[in-house]
Amino acid sequence: MQQAVVKASERESTRTRADEPAGSRVREVAACLLCHGALEKSIGDLFDARFGVVGSYEVWRCLDCGLEQIYPVPTPAELGRLYESYYNFGGERGTSYTRLREWFFSSWLYRIWIFLDGDISFHRRKGAGRLLDAGCNEGRGLRIYARNGFQVEGLELNPTAAAVARGAGFTVHLGDTTDFTASAAYDVVVLSNVLEHAPDPKKVLLNVRGNLNAGGQLWISCPNSRSWLRRVFGRSWINWHVPFHISHFSTETLQRLLTDAGFQNVETQQITPALWVTQSCIARLFARQGRKNRQLRNSFLTLFLMIFARFGLFPALLLGNRRGRGDCLLVVATKA
Ligand SMILES: [Zn+2]
Repeated sequence: MQQAVVKASERESTRTRADEPAGSRVREVAACLLCHGALEKSIGDLFDARFGVVGSYEVWRCLDCGLEQIYPVPTPAELGRLYESYYNFGGERGTSYTRLREWFFSSWLYRIWIFLDGDISFHRRKGAGRLLDAGCNEGRGLRIYARNGFQVEGLELNPTAAAVARGAGFTVHLGDTTDFTASAAYDVVVLSNVLEHAPDPKKVLLNVRGNLNAGGQLWISCPNSRSWLRRVFGRSWINWHVPFHISHFSTETLQRLLTDAGFQNVETQQITPALWVTQSCIARLFARQGRKNRQLRNSFLTLFLMIFARFGLFPALLLGNRRGRGDCLLVVATKA
């Protein structure tokens, strides 16, 4: 790590910046999470559009590999505090929004919906063998993967969420995706909207690889940093999700990362979930810095906008996906 910092520092000191007085040195060292290359700012003045975390954040892009990441990356202690205080509205339960959401995910309507809208969590894939849902939260995915034929286990960092999933009868390991060691290897590991939250995504993939059987598959979904919705919504794009999203992957950066971590046959696909379009709209209309965006929990507004996005914007969403600018990347890779 020290070596990496020096490398980035050397690059920084050779560049001139218009806003620096002549002869001054760049004190702040910016190094890419993946390749330790030097970074430049992509976008600033971002704020949390969901939970009301106070603060302004920036996303920087690596000049070498193109990965975009929050900069500076919050420390592990800071992230721990942020997740505990804010994430998922501090463990919101029993509201009309959460009740409607839980009913929806267990209903036949959900199966029809993901057929039409796209399946960001691999809930339509049937199969067999041992499957680990890494970042399984309260176990909604475990229930669906089990129904689809897999022998499921979960991995979860949050003890409260893990306890809920265990209460439903599932085996859930409490721990981090970077240092988990399974007692028996898996045939499939799922990282559904998880990798972009990791302070060290390569370490996560190396760990997953170590826990997979020969020929085992890794299923990843995450936001696409080259989404056309990023251009449309600008700072209100819901997938900036500062300060919780650390990395912003494109098809290219994710493919390179997977190859470096020992995966092959990387297949990628893109979809644009109506919920994500809806959330970007609600962020644009209602987000205020330092305040919870309660409209993201407005069932009527969410449903109305989702139906509009899915059916009214259907051609635009389809075209965006076809041109490699969909909002969500879906990746299936095999252990090399
Ligand atoms: Zn890089």
